[in-house]
Amino acid sequence: MTILPVIPISPDQPDAVSTRRRPSMPPRHLADLDLAARQAAVTALGEPAFRAKQLSTHYFGRLVRDAAAMTDLPSATRDKLTAELLPTLLTPIREQACDDGATRKALWRLHDGALVESVLMGYPDRVTACVSSQAGCGMACPFCATGQQGLTRNLSVAEIVDQVVYLAGVAASGAVTGSPPRLSRVVFMGMGEPLANYPRVIEAVRRLTTPAPEGLGLSQRHITVSTVGLVPAMRRLIAEQLSVTLALSLHAPDDDLRDELVPVNQRWKVAEVLDAAFDYAAQTGRRVSIEYALIRDVNDQPWRADLLGRLLHGKLAHVNLIPLNPTPGSKWDASPKPVEREFVRRLREAGVSTTVRDTRGREIDGACGQLAAGELTRAGAGGVAADAEVAQ
Ligand code: SAH
Repeated sequence: MTILPVIPISPDQPDAVSTRRRPSMPPRHLADLDLAARQAAVTALGEPAFRAKQLSTHYFGRLVRDAAAMTDLPSATRDKLTAELLPTLLTPIREQACDDGATRKALWRLHDGALVESVLMGYPDRVTACVSSQAGCGMACPFCATGQQGLTRNLSVAEIVDQVVYLAGVAASGAVTGSPPRLSRVVFMGMGEPLANYPRVIEAVRRLTTPAPEGLGLSQRHITVSTVGLVPAMRRLIAEQLSVTLALSLHAPDDDLRDELVPVNQRWKVAEVLDAAFDYAAQTGRRVSIEYALIRDVNDQPWRADLLGRLLHGKLAHVNLIPLNPTPGSKWDASPKPVEREFVRRLREAGVSTTVRDTRGREIDGACGQLAAGELTRAGAGGVAADAEVAQ
C-alpha cells in the first residue's frame, strides 16, 4: 500500500495547494471512546461521571452535534466538555442532492484539510448512509475515481461515526422525502478500503451498533463492509463474530483480468479471496455480496459469466452487478443493456442469485467509484459512492 503525499485543496485556503501539510489524525472525540472511557475523560476534567451519559444522549440519542443545543448543561460545563470531547471533526464544504432529494452527497473537510464524502440514500422503506473509511484510497483500482487519488490517511473512529450521526440527523429532519426518518443502514462503500483501516472500522461498527446512549443502536445485519479482498483482514473479521454483511469487490472471475482491475489480486488470488468470503458466509450464516462492475468488452463476456456462475454455484453468495459509472479520464464504459441482461441470465441459469444495482447519485458524482473529493478544482467533480444498494 502506498501512502502518497497528497496535498488537500481547501477552497477557503487557496494557498493550501502550495503548502505541503502532512495528514494527521484528528483530536479525540466522544465517539472514539466507549462509555467507560467517556466517564473517565469527564471525571479527569473535574466533572461528575454522569455528564458522560448526558453528552452521549445528546450525540447518539438525539443526534445533536452542536454544543449550543445542549441547554441542559451549565454553560461553563458545556464549553469545557465540548472543547474536550466534541471537537468539530467534519466541516461541511458542499452538499448536493439529486433524485428529488432522495440522494444527498456531503463533502467534508477534515481538521488537517483532507477531504472526504458521504452519501445518504432514501428508499420507500429505508434510509442508508454510505460512508468513507479513509481519505483517498491506496488500492489503485483503475476504474475507480477514488483509487486514482492515492491514500491520504485513515479516518479515526469518530470521523467515521460522525458521518453517520450527521446523516442520521439529516434523515431525522425529514429532508429525505418519501423515506422513513430513521437512518437504518450503513454501507462502508464510500472512499477508502475499510479493511485497510481495520481496527478503526471495527470499532466504528461497534459504536454504531451499541444501543444508545453508548452508541447509535443500529443492527449489525444492517451494516455492510465492502472490501477489495484483503484476505488476512477478512479472516480477522470472521474471528470477530460480528453479523455484518460482507461485500467483496470481485469484478473478474479470473486472475489475469482481476490482477489488472483490482491490483491487490496480485497478492491474494481469486480462489483465495473467494474461499475467505465463503468462510465468512459459513461463519455468519449471511450471504456475501459479490460486487461486479460490468465494463464493456472488459469483463462482460458470456464465458466470464459462466465462469463466475461455476465459482459461486451452491455458495451462500449473491451477485450485485454494477453498471460501470463514468469516471474522469477513464477509457472504460458500462456494458450495453443486452450484454448486461445476458450476463444476468447466465448467472441465474447457474443458480446464482443476481441483481443489478440501482445506480444512485451519478449526476452528483456520488455513485460507486465516483467519489474523488480531492478533485474540487475540476468543475463539477465530486468524489464517493451513492449507488451502494441493491435493486431487488
Ligand atoms: N474499497 C472497498 C470499498 C469501496 S466500495 C471496495 O472496493 O469494496 C465501492 C464499490 O464501487 C466497489 O465495489 C468498487 O469496486 C465499485 N466501483 C468503483 N468504481 C466504480 C465505477 N466507476 N463504477 C461502478 N462501480 C465502481
